[in-house]
Amino acid sequence: MSVRVRFAPSPTGPLHIGGVRTALYNYLLAKKEGGQFILRIEDTDQNRLVAGAEDYIKESLEWLGLVPDEGPGYGGDHGPYRQSERKGLYAEYAQKMVADGNAYYAFDTPEELDKMRKEQEALGHHSAKYDARIRMQMRNSLSLAKEEADKLIASGEGIIRLKMPDNEDVSFVDLVREKVTFNTKELDDKVILKKDGMPTYHLANVVDDHLMKITHVIRGEEWLSSTAHHVLMYRFMGWTAPQFTHLPLILKPTGKGKLSKRDGAKFGFAVFPLEWHDKKEDEIYAGFRESGFDPKALLNFLVLLGWNPGNDEELMSMARMTELFSLDKIVKSGARFDVDKSKWFNQQYLMATADEALLAPVKAAMPQGVICDDSYLMTVIGLMKERVTKYGDFYTEGNFFFSAPSSYDDKQIKKRYTAELDSHFAQIDILISASDGTAPAMETAVKGYLTDNELKMGVYLPLLRIMLCGELKGPDLFQIMAVLGKDEVGERNSKALAYFKTL
Ligand code: GLU
Repeated sequence: MSVRVRFAPSPTGPLHIGGVRTALYNYLLAKKEGGQFILRIEDTDQNRLVAGAEDYIKESLEWLGLVPDEGPGYGGDHGPYRQSERKGLYAEYAQKMVADGNAYYAFDTPEELDKMRKEQEALGHHSAKYDARIRMQMRNSLSLAKEEADKLIASGEGIIRLKMPDNEDVSFVDLVREKVTFNTKELDDKVILKKDGMPTYHLANVVDDHLMKITHVIRGEEWLSSTAHHVLMYRFMGWTAPQFTHLPLILKPTGKGKLSKRDGAKFGFAVFPLEWHDKKEDEIYAGFRESGFDPKALLNFLVLLGWNPGNDEELMSMARMTELFSLDKIVKSGARFDVDKSKWFNQQYLMATADEALLAPVKAAMPQGVICDDSYLMTVIGLMKERVTKYGDFYTEGNFFFSAPSSYDDKQIKKRYTAELDSHFAQIDILISASDGTAPAMETAVKGYLTDNELKMGVYLPLLRIMLCGELKGPDLFQIMAVLGKDEVGERNSKALAYFKTL
């Protein structure tokens, strides 16, 4: 039987980075086993739909290269792949469960449900649930006379709830946790079909996994307790359940608590693959794409958040990840979202990418209005590549290649500069302009002069760097000079020196 996995997000907002990891693990298993990776949009909760979310999910998967084999807009023989478009096919399964005595109609109003909850809480039952203990006190097809219940059903008043067996252990095998058991006392009679005929997540998820011939369910651990309900539904329907794997939480960079969408702004990084404009909150959430990440580096970073290949291999191409991936190496404990590590991965990918291939993404990350030709940018890329972690850093870390400094590091200047140095800087300028303008020639001239006159390299060279770059940063000083050109170096030096004198 061919492996069929699905990524089943609800379009209630942008795809969180945890969702990307779920998609990745599903994708890797499908590719490893020569199976299919399916995208299913779980949009049964129409009140929570967010405009643009489905497009965002698809655009993210495509940017990452996790392109579905089947899904809305991707074709496939098991569609439609958007649950709202499958609305008509769920009721018969819910009704079958009712007919078999495994589910029932309920007619309670929101006020009645609220009253029940309050009464239960007053009795000290903290997690008040609609369950075997109280269902006969509520208004449903089990507690009411058949005639009355039938009338209510006929008038379209009922919703359908699962009838959880009383005090029974429900067990299933989770590939990460081995055997997982929930007692039905911990579980409520979940609503599976709403009044308008729309299924809830639970029914739609099980029916679709069955009809779409899903063999493995790989999802976040927050769904673990729902799995007990799902396993019972498979049993009630006489279907074979897929294999379950629940992925560990992704933790905040501090290692404490679950990574949340607000952590991005708090810790200064992205938690979403693409930038997302939340219209309701009027807030923009940063994206890895816009922050200058290579999607392959992001996937390489993510694959190791909750899984390892069993050795210390870290840098892996997609092909290598696919080769090494296996569900039994997924770990149980939460994985810390280590921001520095994500940058490290991106840096490794940057360094391994040919300069020519970096040209387009680096150009795209340049601020508007910066004009330079491709060959100049290629030179800058070559010099800066090992010093940056993201595409945008070529500009932010190397801005002096594109314009003269608009400010200088006063503290570093004051540490070194005195007026006696001026005459030597004048000599150095003369030597630079007399040289052939190559880095080695300028280096020989400047260093030779300093040595011959017994002047300190540690005073003059940092000051020269500040004259060109504004601060003590950047690649080799003489390489910078060669790229800028003798004339520009001369201009920057005299402008800076005039400023130094004012301090
Ligand atoms: N729609 C659920 C979600 O948004 C899917 C959970 C599952 O994969 O079963 O995460």
